Amino acid sequence: MTSTTFSDLHLDERILNALEDAGYSTPTEIQAAAIPLALEGKDLMASAQTGTGKTAAFVLPMLQLLYQESEKDSGKGNGSSEKDEDSKKKKKTRRARKVRGLVLSPTRELAQQIEENVEQYAKYLPQNVVSLVGGLSLQRQIKQLQKGVDIVIATPGRLLDLLQRKEISLRDVDFFVLDEADRMLDMGFVDDVRDIARRVKKERQTFLFSATTSDAVESLSRSLLTEPERVAVHPPDTVGENIDSRILFVERKDKRDLVADLLSDESATRVLIFTATKSDANVLAAILSRKEIDALAIHSDKSQKDRQRALQDFDEGKVRVLVATDVMARGIDVGGITHVINYDLPNDPENFVHRIGRTARAGTKGIALSLCDLDEIKMLRSIERFTKKTLAVDSDHPYHSPLIETMKNQRQSPFARRGRRGGRATPRGGRGGRR
Ligand code: AMP
Repeated sequence: MTSTTFSDLHLDERILNALEDAGYSTPTEIQAAAIPLALEGKDLMASAQTGTGKTAAFVLPMLQLLYQESEKDSGKGNGSSEKDEDSKKKKKTRRARKVRGLVLSPTRELAQQIEENVEQYAKYLPQNVVSLVGGLSLQRQIKQLQKGVDIVIATPGRLLDLLQRKEISLRDVDFFVLDEADRMLDMGFVDDVRDIARRVKKERQTFLFSATTSDAVESLSRSLLTEPERVAVHPPDTVGENIDSRILFVERKDKRDLVADLLSDESATRVLIFTATKSDANVLAAILSRKEIDALAIHSDKSQKDRQRALQDFDEGKVRVLVATDVMARGIDVGGITHVINYDLPNDPENFVHRIGRTARAGTKGIALSLCDLDEIKMLRSIERFTKKTLAVDSDHPYHSPLIETMKNQRQSPFARRGRRGGRATPRGGRGGRR
């Protein structure tokens, strides 16, 4: 948080009231940096991860500017008759309902969360919003578009589908936001994003938000933004200071029991567990449920309805444990997650940062516990290189493996050169178990 206040940012009173209702007292760092530049009409290239308040950083100026535009449109006529005014008002209503703001999101869950945030911040404004995502009824979305919307939050696939069907036009879009651009590129959406951008009118303001920067993100930014201002908070390779992040060395066969043991901690009231695969997520959720621990799996094979219900139940505290895969990580914006448990370490160290960033949101504290078996030492090393931090070891559990800890501390693992699949999974042909 910063010493700046929201009113210092010259936000409209209606927006300030909505922020007060949301319980926000001060802008976060990214909000304080991005909002003034956006309100000046600048294009923005922002580097910020989820949990920093980045959504409001682009939604608030977009709402403010769209609102001001719509007010200008409805301004006094220049000497025209009452009848003219009436017909102008009608036209205005029609004009105001053209898509003026467009946010592209890599996942359905993120799109729906952005939509919810827009609804929250726009509660005292006339602007309306719809999310256009796959997995939900196309006909319903077409009907919503026909009624008229000001702001669209969309995933690239569904938006292109609607564009091809000529059910939506982007020719009036004044604000174009690419959220989590890095993830969008990772998911192979680059051509779709460029195709969509070509259909948005040229005279517009564009914001690109990305948790990480890369050549691909830079190249996208060069082609879509005009003389952008750059804002960055929390370099992407840093781990939130409010997260107590620890590593637990454990043999693979003991991981399930260790998780159950960790969940016996009553302070772990809202727990998000990450597994490497969807089937691992299903199996782990089922095992925990058998142990009478409320757990649900959430991943891309689940229907949109099931995913939403799982997230809602988790949010409302009806389910204590959610078991997810990486694709879901960024879409999970649930407050009050006390613990993130990495059942498997991610292959990509950036995902480690995203996963554990689901806890300790907006200034709160959280605990991240990462399980590491023998095969994962290499991944742990690359996570530590990436975050420039050595994770604290938590050996205070019944399944601690001093052997794996020793292997980790050796400068070069004797298994490193064998490759993960080719070599033996455990030292000395698998006989040298723990301790
Ligand atoms: P985001 O990084 O946009 O995903 O936001 C992370 C969380 O912080 C969300 O739950 C927001 O509702 C919350 N949030 C955003 N801005 C603020 C703020 N200025 N004060 C308190 N909470 C905030």
